[in-house]
Amino acid sequence: MRVQCVICDTIEKIDSYCLQAKRLRNRRLNTYMCQTCHDRIGENTKKRLATGQFKFNRERKKEKHLS
Ligand SMILES: [Zn+2]
Repeated sequence: MRVQCVICDTIEKIDSYCLQAKRLRNRRLNTYMCQTCHDRIGENTKKRLATGQFKFNRERKKEKHLS
């Protein structure tokens, strides 16, 4: 079956009987992500976690300033 990456719109062919194809059909939503985007998202998540910690510290400072 043909699947389209939700992020970069790349169309790829996957085995219609593989586990991933089964999952896509069950969900009815096309949530396929190509390997490139999958890897990029993984990196972004790591970065966001690092940034999130930084933001948390900044918010605490802001709270102190307001009170
Ligand atoms: Zn993609």
